[in-house]
Amino acid sequence: MGITLNANHVLVDIMTNALITGAEWDLLVIGGGSGGLAAAQRAAEYGARVALIEHGRLGGTCVNVGCVPKKVMWNAAQLAHALHDAPEYGFAVQVSGHDWAQLKAQRDAYITRLNGIYERNLAKRQVHLIRGYAQLLAPGVVEVDGQRLQAKQVLLATGGRPRQLAIPGAELALDSDGFFDMAERPQRVALIGAGYIAVEIAGVLAALGSQVSLLLRGDHALRGFDALLVEGLDEALHESGITRVTGATPAALVRTAAGITVTLADGRVVGPFDQVISAIGRDPLSGCIAPAVGVQRDAAGFVPVDDYQCTNVPGVLAIGDVTGRAPLTPVAIAAGRRLADRLWGGMSGRHLDYDNIPTVVFSHPPIGTVGLTEAQARERHGEAVRVYTSTFVPMYHAMTSAKPKTRMKLVTVGEEQRVVGVHIIGPGADEMLQGFAVAVRMGATKRDLDDTVAIHPTSSEELVTMR
Ligand code: FAD
Ligand code: NDP
Repeated sequence: MGITLNANHVLVDIMTNALITGAEWDLLVIGGGSGGLAAAQRAAEYGARVALIEHGRLGGTCVNVGCVPKKVMWNAAQLAHALHDAPEYGFAVQVSGHDWAQLKAQRDAYITRLNGIYERNLAKRQVHLIRGYAQLLAPGVVEVDGQRLQAKQVLLATGGRPRQLAIPGAELALDSDGFFDMAERPQRVALIGAGYIAVEIAGVLAALGSQVSLLLRGDHALRGFDALLVEGLDEALHESGITRVTGATPAALVRTAAGITVTLADGRVVGPFDQVISAIGRDPLSGCIAPAVGVQRDAAGFVPVDDYQCTNVPGVLAIGDVTGRAPLTPVAIAAGRRLADRLWGGMSGRHLDYDNIPTVVFSHPPIGTVGLTEAQARERHGEAVRVYTSTFVPMYHAMTSAKPKTRMKLVTVGEEQRVVGVHIIGPGADEMLQGFAVAVRMGATKRDLDDTVAIHPTSSEELVTMR
């Protein structure tokens, strides 16, 4: 029997045009984002018969409305900072504004190219792409726009979407998807939220010239990060001209003639703003699982999995953001690849270790962090914890009138001083962290860092010269 994709990208028999059904797929992947693409391709490389179902743009959140367009915007903001500093390095620079629309058009074109590359990569690896919205009806049974498919294993890689504010006037706010759609840069902006996305978008808009207010429920952004990073970020936000409004739980958004105002739970009113953007976390997309399948979901809709990405229902697996564990692209990718290695690559027992996942917040300057915070280490290891810190003005700023500080912390445990946490805020932290994450994963001790010859003159050399 020959098979091909019909005009709707549904797999059909070449001769009869009949839909391919039956248990002919080894793996049906629901979701063509970071995790789904990685798992599907790795499984297909091992010879599994794989189909992937996607109802939106290939690449999912990361490529279309996440990491990729965000990093382009972050690069633009970095350039704005560099242009600002350039005269102090002797350049005569005249900047006549920034063309948001041009940047957006180039960014969107880049993403369209990536969408095409992902589609071609699937074809190259013999993963069959099915366009449409998938519903899991029973273990091994998936319906796509009314047509049924069967497989031995179904992988949920459906990701998530921005959580919406549940307050009067919520429809006046954009979410992060809306941020990437904005045709022009608003001048007065409020960011609701204090996590990765709020901090990153605030930094971009401020660098490109907006007046930005960050509305925090608590006192600080990035709750749960190491205290040194939180302190450094507070300072960096201040230096970027971002106004932090603390203790700010939004209760209502109101459109007035002057713009949108935010009424806070304690009665304060902030604004008016030209745009309010909310970034208050993400909800899982797990509504495509028919209740009869019996897949367990937690109160927020996340799908719990065991160490091997198995849900409570045999033959139904899940990876990535929909599982609620470390919602980061490389985590979804790694979980997907390891799953394929285990099921079709003969690597029994292979699974993702969720400890020591390095992560970067693309603030200005960026933050890099891996392992335990000092507070977590003290809670687990008490007196056995020893911490090393370094705070300094990086050499780049020797030439500039602003003197922002880089902060670094090593958290060590035990007599051998095993390094269990590395935390950095400062220029280059984003690129510095990956190598140190390898060291932490390998169980490096403070002595190993001390015995590593420094690279001079860099900021990262501080991490191997701390006393
Ligand atoms: P997704 O990438 O969300 O993919 C899920 C796919 O499933 C989507 O394409 C969706 O259309 C599809 N789908 C859902 N339901 C169905 C269905 N029923 N039928 C068919 N298709 C379906 N992470 C980082 O590591 N670094 C970063 O810098 C970073 N920046 C980010 C910035 C922003 C603004 C956001 C929002 C996220 C960012 N992330 C970042 C997180 C990262 O994007 C996610 O962790 C990652 O995309 C998760 O991958 P996933 O495969 O689980 O889901
Ligand atoms: P986060 O979980 O990082 O932060 C959510 C923030 O929203 C918290 O600060 C929380 O405040 C606040 N919040 C929650 N509910 C409300 C509410 N009702 N009103 C006001 N504030 C509220 O979520 P994000 O949306 O920023 O990002 C989602 C995930 O995407 C991240 O966790 C991360 O894993 C991933 N991501 C990764 C990036 C990267 O790798 N660089 C970049 C962007 C996203 P409080 O602190 O008070 O609880």
